[in-house]
Amino acid sequence: AAATARPGSVEHWALTRPSVVAFVEGDRSLTWGELNDHADRLAAALSERGIKAGDVVGVRTQIRIEWPVIDAALAKLGAAVLGMNWRLTPAEVEYVLGNSGAAGLICDDADPAPLLPALARCQPKVQISIDTAASGFTSWQDALSLPAEPRFSRQPAGLVIYTSGTTGLPKGVGQNRVAPADMQRVAEYYASIAARSPRGIDDVILCTMPFSHGAGPGLVRGGVNAGATMILQRRFDPVEVLELIQTYRVTIWTGVPTMLKRIAALGDDVMTHYDLSSMRALHTGAAPVPPSLKQWARAHFGETLHEAYGATEVGMIAHLTPDMQKVRPASSGYPYRHVEVSVRDDKGRPLPTGEAGELWIRTPVTIKNYLNAPGLGPDTLDPDGFFRVGDVGYVDEEGYIFITDRIKDMIISGGVNIYPAEIEAVLIRHPAIQDVAVIGIPDDEFGESVKAFVELKPGATLADGELRDFARGALASYKRPKSIDIVDDLPRNTMGKILKRELREPYWKDRD
Ligand code: ATP
Repeated sequence: AAATARPGSVEHWALTRPSVVAFVEGDRSLTWGELNDHADRLAAALSERGIKAGDVVGVRTQIRIEWPVIDAALAKLGAAVLGMNWRLTPAEVEYVLGNSGAAGLICDDADPAPLLPALARCQPKVQISIDTAASGFTSWQDALSLPAEPRFSRQPAGLVIYTSGTTGLPKGVGQNRVAPADMQRVAEYYASIAARSPRGIDDVILCTMPFSHGAGPGLVRGGVNAGATMILQRRFDPVEVLELIQTYRVTIWTGVPTMLKRIAALGDDVMTHYDLSSMRALHTGAAPVPPSLKQWARAHFGETLHEAYGATEVGMIAHLTPDMQKVRPASSGYPYRHVEVSVRDDKGRPLPTGEAGELWIRTPVTIKNYLNAPGLGPDTLDPDGFFRVGDVGYVDEEGYIFITDRIKDMIISGGVNIYPAEIEAVLIRHPAIQDVAVIGIPDDEFGESVKAFVELKPGATLADGELRDFARGALASYKRPKSIDIVDDLPRNTMGKILKRELREPYWKDRD
């Protein structure tokens, strides 16, 4: 059997390290042997109900220990995981299942009954409810009840992710089938991603990234490939992250900037209570990382900070290792192998090196289409396969990428481009501020004017005009917020990205 197990697969580790713990979540854990056994049982149950190679199965769960079981089971069948956000409404679930042609749904909804009408219309072959016994659903216990013959995966399960999209319907991003001629390049691309942050069987990886986005599945699959031990946190909690790092001697943690900000807001007194010396790599990215946050990370985690830049449609683009941080601290990364970056003006014409413009990216895994949707069109995908990611930035002489902001977040006031990310990086340095979002609101004179929403640290207060005075020293007058609102919670998606369109909406709804 060892000969049939693909190196780096769950089956491989189950044969070579059966009683070593692979996953921990809360007080539950799975050894490699148990993980593989559960996956074989689930694969048999799914197969019996008609799931086969090439099928897509919706998986709507929190960050929990059943996910790697599902992922391994679908890999054994040659099927794909459709990562679904647990915040989607039944109508959105119906759209995503229908658009992707999903053959099944596995969910951990506290009450899955509201999904039944949508499921009745989509008619998937399998409906499994993990926590709650509900009529119309197979329970997790039943799905895993029968012993099964071992199955071996030939490759990791496919992955389909729907990007939320700022307008219109969510868009499905599936993996391209790699043409034989491109295999080598794709393999070299993935090898260069792995090489920036090597991991092995001695690593302990903490996963707080959702499985409805590329980040969570990517992290877990990378960990499985390396045979590392993985600690899953079902719902993000800043104090518990520190506890988990200390308890399990975590070596690698990936946290989006929002998570780092929430830990920073605990204060240095809390931080010094924990032994974080096991940490070897702290990964961040997915959204702008303000310089002050990088400084904070360095102070508490040493020279371990990695930043990654990616987008669902093109995959991973660039990465800044701790060594690269030393020479290019403000960069978002150096491109991975076979990633090409082209900086263009708003008419799509290439700009000289160093000049800021729109970033067009080509990677070996760039999509050609959204799932079951019309063609992308030359404004999004040019004839050479470069994808317009929607970011403004530049590339320096040595090839490092600098992201200024997202195009749709850019404010144009009096004909001048204003980058909210720059203003946010200043305001967040104020000691009372936990997080901040800057948007443009309608202004009769200038077209748009700058408005800030701030979230305060627990117990912190802000006097009238204090933030405005603070901004005065650091920002030109046209960049300073004309108005500042203090809010309890900024609207965020599951990745912790601030939903600026929700902040903008009330101001623009009668205008556009
Ligand atoms: P959606 O399309 O679902 O509305 P989204 O555009 O955020 O959301 P993703 O593909 O998850 O979808 O995000 C990609 C975008 O995230 C990038 O285009 C960029 O704007 C931002 N981003 C990712 N990494 C970084 C980084 N290191 N620094 C700054 N921005 C980043």
